[in-house]
Amino acid sequence: TVLVAGSANLDFVVRAPHIPAPGETVLGSDFSTFPGGKGANQAVACARAGGVRTRMLLALGNDAYALPLEHSLREAGVEAHIVRTGEPTGVAFICVSDEAENAITVAPGANSQLRPEHLPDLAGVTHLLLQLETPLDPVLAWAQAARAAGVRVVLNAAPAQALPQTLLESVDVLIANEGELAAVTGVEDDMAAAVARLGRVDVIVTLGARGSCAHTQGGWVLQPAFEVDAVDTTGAGDTYCGAFVAALAAGDTFAEAMRRAAAASALACTRMGAQASIPARAEVELMLAQ
Ligand code: ADP
Repeated sequence: TVLVAGSANLDFVVRAPHIPAPGETVLGSDFSTFPGGKGANQAVACARAGGVRTRMLLALGNDAYALPLEHSLREAGVEAHIVRTGEPTGVAFICVSDEAENAITVAPGANSQLRPEHLPDLAGVTHLLLQLETPLDPVLAWAQAARAAGVRVVLNAAPAQALPQTLLESVDVLIANEGELAAVTGVEDDMAAAVARLGRVDVIVTLGARGSCAHTQGGWVLQPAFEVDAVDTTGAGDTYCGAFVAALAAGDTFAEAMRRAAAASALACTRMGAQASIPARAEVELMLAQ
């Protein structure tokens, strides 16, 4: 069983000819809402990857915005542990311009109410998957509790921020893109030096269309990206994390799990949206067989 603990947001997306300047009103089009939030995206990716049971700890408000988030998790087969708070459900307001630029405002709301004591019973849990979109105190407490219970801790260091040493000491695998790796280690433009700062932690660095590479006790692993016609890379990183941990928990080796994650995240780039674009297991199998 994989337990994901983290954020869930409802994304409000409007397309506009350009991002409005302060004080400006722009007539946009194509309004839609999408279930999002890094935690929920990764839980859906883990569940769709198959082969493991997926549970998720999340916080939602007592409002209608919570409903599509609950629905998306349920439909993917995620067992949700929902903390119901007085704060509104987390939302993100996203304006996408015709030049494909975006401007995003997030109101974390209920996500900010997650506490150390909300961690559910870890019986049967082999892997805990965390991100940095919820407050750092509970993330640290959950990592430490999981570590003490013999659960493997995987941290996706997104969004980018510096991390306390105590958190890194409780992490088995760190997944970061290049910017996030620089924020965590304070080392820019030198992957080997950055990874060396992390000591015994296994590290995966995702490199967008260039694929991903990992540094483990056994040395370096390189995983090229699968070639696809990418239309929207939103959620590629989240799909990678969820699919990787699902494969690891199902018994794959580190390198096999990276390959599965690369296939799943490449497929996610071929469709719009975050959770909606995450492929099912059968599609990933087809990709891997190519
Ligand atoms: P993030 O969005 O978190 O910065 P990346 O952009 O590094 O994450 O993407 C995560 C993974 O998704 C990559 O390691 C790669 O395997 C896959 N990926 C991203 N962009 C593409 C692409 N254009 N084509 C194929 N795979 C991609």
